[in-house]
Amino acid sequence: MRASGSGVWAVLVAAGRGERFGDDRPKAFANLGGRPLLAESLERLEASDWVEALVVVAPPEWEEPSILLAEEIGAGKVHAAVTGGATRADSVRAGLAEVPDEAAVVVVHDAARPLLPEDVLERVVTGLGDGWDGAVPALPLADTVKRADGDAVAETVDRTALYVTQTPQAFLAESLRRALAGEREATDCAGLVEAAGGRIRLVEGDRRLVKVTTPADLDFVELLLRAAAG
Ligand code: C5P
Repeated sequence: MRASGSGVWAVLVAAGRGERFGDDRPKAFANLGGRPLLAESLERLEASDWVEALVVVAPPEWEEPSILLAEEIGAGKVHAAVTGGATRADSVRAGLAEVPDEAAVVVVHDAARPLLPEDVLERVVTGLGDGWDGAVPALPLADTVKRADGDAVAETVDRTALYVTQTPQAFLAESLRRALAGEREATDCAGLVEAAGGRIRLVEGDRRLVKVTTPADLDFVELLLRAAAG
């Protein structure tokens, strides 16, 4: 599938304040190897054969810097930079409002996950069809999971059917629009589509898609980037 005319639009959500991050700027503009964190995923979505166009959802007052960044890295697929909302779901709603009705598929990605491999984009987009409303990257749990009661272990949880999900997450545009039409909230878009009765498929995720939540995560991602650059 070629990017132009693929009917796949991406919404890159970057409007989180990053309170757990403790920087003086939004997390999406934290320094990753000399560039804003946002540049990494923006560049990868721009280069993807699976994405036709994209919308960046920026923190208030950071729409202009987002457009300038897109211009700087030659991200011509960027259709708009819009202002995010108070919650992640609100930010996705704002981005989706810019996606034209002709788009068949919408891929939602967290700017906080800079290392976006092309093969994950391929797996989520091609994972749709056969009645699936969404396809999301998932990883089985490597660690043992405990349910806690304060600082006491209440129970060890059977992890065999447990997965952690990542982004990019791909959806039939119509299913995502329906899920976001209400006031629902969830920590990922798949959760919203599930709550609206949609069927979500798990495809293989990638450990490099770590979410930058703390400065230590940023150091880790920088190490991975340097290792990849050789
Ligand atoms: O806060 P958290 O790390 O879970 O956010 C995941 C992604 O959602 C980040 O890329 C963040 O910028 C985005 N987000 C957003 N608008 C919000 C909250 C989070 O775009 N209100």
